[in-house]
Amino acid sequence: MILIYTAYSRGYSLSYIVKEMPMSSSPQHKMTNSRVVLKFGGTSVADLDRIANVAEFVKLEADAGYGVVVVVSAMAGETNRLVDLVHRAIGTGISVDSNLREYDAVVSSGEQVTSGLLALTLQRQGYRARSWQGWQIPLKTSDGHGRARIASIPDDVVGAAVDSGEIAIVAGFQGITEEGRISTLGRGGSDTTAVALAAALGAERCDIYTDIDGVYTTDPRISSNARRLERISYEEMLEMASLGAKVLQTRSVELAMAHNVNLRVLSSFADPKEARNGALQPCTVICSEDEIVEQHIVSGVTHSDSEAKISLMTVPDEPGRAARIFTELAAADINVDMIVQSAAKTAKAANISFSLDEADVARAQELLATLKQDIGYTDVVADRNVSKVSVIGVGMKSHAGVAATMFQTLAERSINILNISTSEIRISVLIHSEYTELAVRALHQAYGLQEMAETS
Ligand code: ASP
Ligand code: MG
Repeated sequence: MILIYTAYSRGYSLSYIVKEMPMSSSPQHKMTNSRVVLKFGGTSVADLDRIANVAEFVKLEADAGYGVVVVVSAMAGETNRLVDLVHRAIGTGISVDSNLREYDAVVSSGEQVTSGLLALTLQRQGYRARSWQGWQIPLKTSDGHGRARIASIPDDVVGAAVDSGEIAIVAGFQGITEEGRISTLGRGGSDTTAVALAAALGAERCDIYTDIDGVYTTDPRISSNARRLERISYEEMLEMASLGAKVLQTRSVELAMAHNVNLRVLSSFADPKEARNGALQPCTVICSEDEIVEQHIVSGVTHSDSEAKISLMTVPDEPGRAARIFTELAAADINVDMIVQSAAKTAKAANISFSLDEADVARAQELLATLKQDIGYTDVVADRNVSKVSVIGVGMKSHAGVAATMFQTLAERSINILNISTSEIRISVLIHSEYTELAVRALHQAYGLQEMAETS
């Protein structure tokens, strides 16, 4: 299962962002009823009391005249419980990959429960509401069970239902394959269900309700100076989501960006009565870069502890060796990230090291062991005790010196950099895990993120 999560949370590139869904575009919807999509995560629907609270937020939108589509996650902890049951049913030593169809049949059930419970809660208060499972829409997906991609969503049935005033409660995370089997979208996939529905239905906005009131400049558990961002661009959010900020599934941000979905992150733990009285709820708006008036060079610092580093020692320095290593790793679906090649002590040899998800280390080691002769390295060394710390900001496109500040800040704390990787709007370094918190706090301060957030 971790593998599935991994493949989802890493290794995207902007070039993947294509129009994923052939959408039945019906612009007239925007002109008739305005629709909104509200998504509630696991902690927001953790029990009947929390579901009753969710109903208050839903009623608010329905009373304001919106066609309301709600997407729900399973109750907090429920998906983990179901995943665990599947593992136990399959038996130890056997990969869950061997039967992902039944895995999906089991783990998709958590969302079915919450969709029905929320519909009942709303009905009891006199509202018209009904639950929708993925197959009833039908939300069609690829046959990549366990981490399927959305192929299409018709806008007719659910669209007509909400336009008639009925609240549609959609079970997130699940869909149906061409073959007619239930599929799931990878852990955290309800976010993607919500954004995809918002795009397909031409919704005015897609509100992601969670247990925190927005996206922060860094992990508040690490830095008490972390501040909520008023706005963040899709691109930055994409980097943040794939680099360890767990607020949104990466895929959902890709979709929002591709379809220009008006996305907000806000807390369902706020008081719905205050919202009803017109109080503005704190939130983070995720939007395109040009909608952000006050630009900052760096918007956030993220960290991911589930990293590992593998080094291959004394690889013959000649064409084709690196190609062979990384082709084999890719064929085994092992995502590698930061790659460094340095001269080995031996002449005409190099050491090649790369970072990867901790969960993939054992598989990578097994694979590399079978290739020892072919590649001709002398040793392979794995280090699980490493973390990736990244600084992200669209301002890097036009400002020099961001990397220098990062390296200088780490050097002043005597934090050694193991690997480096960059994109146009991000710089990531691999460091020893014991320095993660120190590095995050120092960088947060070095880029003035505290003041930035206070004035924005
Ligand atoms: N319940 C699923 C999970 O825990 C999907 C989601 O909540 O987004 O991964
Ligand atoms: Mg989530």
